[in-house]
Amino acid sequence: KTYIVIGAGILGASTAYHLTKTGAKVMIIDRQDRGQATVAAAGIVCPWLTQRRNQAWYKLAKGGAKYYSSLISQLEEDGETETGYKKVGAISIHTDEIKLEKMEERAFKRLEDASEIGEITRLSNEESREKFPPLAEEYSSVHISGAARVNGRALCQSLIRGAEKHGATLIYGNAALIFNENKVTGIKVNGEAYLADQVIVTAGAWANELLLPLGINFLVSPQKAQIVHLHMGETDTSEWPVIMPPNNQYILAFAGGRVVIGATHEDDKGFDTRVTAGGLNEIYSKAIAVAPGLSDSEVLETRVGFRPFTPGFLPVIGAVPGYESLLIANGLGASGLTVGPYLGAELAKLALGKPLEIDISLYDVAGAIESLK
Ligand code: FAD
Repeated sequence: KTYIVIGAGILGASTAYHLTKTGAKVMIIDRQDRGQATVAAAGIVCPWLTQRRNQAWYKLAKGGAKYYSSLISQLEEDGETETGYKKVGAISIHTDEIKLEKMEERAFKRLEDASEIGEITRLSNEESREKFPPLAEEYSSVHISGAARVNGRALCQSLIRGAEKHGATLIYGNAALIFNENKVTGIKVNGEAYLADQVIVTAGAWANELLLPLGINFLVSPQKAQIVHLHMGETDTSEWPVIMPPNNQYILAFAGGRVVIGATHEDDKGFDTRVTAGGLNEIYSKAIAVAPGLSDSEVLETRVGFRPFTPGFLPVIGAVPGYESLLIANGLGASGLTVGPYLGAELAKLALGKPLEIDISLYDVAGAIESLK
């Protein structure tokens, strides 16, 4: 059977990788949009401390974090060692000891069915600063050893290269669906038509325009995010943990002195890729209040990405109702680097007609679809 995957962010790359590994014939199309979420993403994999109560979402996030160890070894077997993934741990910081106690309780509760959380340790303010030297003096923390950072671009590229090693082909260009009444038969890209038994749409925040010709309004909205990369000179940042402050921002480090701070959450901005004064002001003021030791670092770049959100902030996965041979997954929102590799593996199973680990009725595509007919 032949499959075409439209959109090679983390979700499409993972879908294609898992599909090709079963021997399926796979073509991947990507338009390299400015604002691709996967390239802009911070890269935190630590879903367990969340206060979000939605169980369907948590199941995916938990499963996604757990799946990483299997994925990384699969990629290593394919010779892909530059995945940008490292379990550096995270510290969730606060000045209020009672809040920290609650956080620790929540972590221990979640540990009961998620051993991948690893060790949970309370750290004093001094111990917290030993782990992350730029931190302000007043913060103590809860340390989670199983948390990780991942370079979205590096992981996505290794999944694509992995897929190519197993025989997938990659085409850069703008894909449009080819359909005959209610059956999707292939795609058109760069003036050429390609037929497939199944087309899989993993087009992130841009998916709506692909489905419009079918008379479908796909309810995905882009949430704009600006995120800043800093450089701390010769400082060895390679082992620094992810910092989760009490505000809605975060700080994480990569090797080579790179520190990432952000990100903004901007609704109703459409596909505006501008870096703005207000956005930077929010990012800098929040980051430096938490970690004044970052003040003297050099500004390397600001990235802008669009988090794809579907209704209820819940991902969707499944067949597009009313159409044959068309699958879609979307809505990875703010946790797509965590969830994407896992959901892509599940989407590949769905395409192959194999049993899934997740209950897809919890992530019904119909909830994100408005028929225009
Ligand atoms: P995308 O990565 O946006 O990819 C979609 C792709 O489809 C694009 O390449 C686009 O060009 C292509 N495409 C669209 N239409 C077409 C077409 N017609 N033809 C061809 N190609 C097409 N998640 C975490 O788990 N942890 C984090 O720390 C984290 N931090 C984030 C920080 C920022 C600033 C942002 C923006 C996101 C963050 N996320 C994080 C969320 C995560 O990045 C996203 O949820 C995830 O990357 C979405 O992946 P995707 O593959 O669905 O979409």
